[in-house]
Amino acid sequence: MKIISNPLELKEYLKENKKTVGFVPTMGALHEGHISLINRASEENEIVVVSIFVNPTQFLEGEDLDKYPSREEADKKICSFAGVDILFFPNADDIYTSDEVTLQAPNVRGYVLEGLSRPGHFSGVLTVVMKLLNIVSPTRAYFGKKDAQQINLIMLMVKQLFMSVEIVPIDTVRESDGLALSSRNIYLNKYDREEALKISASLHVCSRMVSRNILDSCEIIDSMRETLYPLEVIYVEILNRDFEKLEQVEIGNSIVLVEAISGETRLLDNIWL
Ligand code: AMP
Repeated sequence: MKIISNPLELKEYLKENKKTVGFVPTMGALHEGHISLINRASEENEIVVVSIFVNPTQFLEGEDLDKYPSREEADKKICSFAGVDILFFPNADDIYTSDEVTLQAPNVRGYVLEGLSRPGHFSGVLTVVMKLLNIVSPTRAYFGKKDAQQINLIMLMVKQLFMSVEIVPIDTVRESDGLALSSRNIYLNKYDREEALKISASLHVCSRMVSRNILDSCEIIDSMRETLYPLEVIYVEILNRDFEKLEQVEIGNSIVLVEAISGETRLLDNIWL
């Protein structure tokens, strides 16, 4: 596995490449969720590039940028073991200068749900993803459905800016008790982790109701909120795949999203129905 930190060196290295490239952007502290993206990229492409970059522009003032988990050596081993060909590991000043051209997340879709509680977060995400895609020029790029709003906005960016990469959504990987894997789960103490299970449990309540043909969004959301109690709920929403509110679940076109705080940790989860 080759490790590169300089963007221009990586671009140069890939310049004459005629093979298909699968790209997996991450912020490190890798877990089975990231590995499932890497495995899929390996299945579908001749070369796999993973980036590890904790992107400062997607963190708001007072968020966990400085304490975001970092496991450099373990991450390198995981990537090498998973068959990654190139690990891109830049520093912040390899990616950003002091006066920058930036992308602006769309005013509606970028500022609802997570974008409402973290205004500007998705502008930072889109800017860094655009930079990374321009550096790697992948055939395909892999993102988790767990960050549903993120992947939705990235797909919108690719479409609206006429980019040629294919964005591949990957199912959420969970612990055996249902908790969605996240690098931030290490912030949870034993009690908070137990409480956090209410998030996946609430989604389970939703899928059970839908399987009994209860499709009314208000009714489902009420039951989900009961299951989530006493977690601090940021939102529970039932949306279509264009991120518009649905009064009724539409099978094949719905995403049910939850964001809640357990202890001090914001946790996201969702199911695609
Ligand atoms: P992160 O390092 O948290 O920025 O995540 C990097 C990529 O991994 C993103 O596309 C995430 O959506 C994806 N990801 C994170 N957690 C999971 C999970 N539990 N299952 C599948 N993909 C995930």
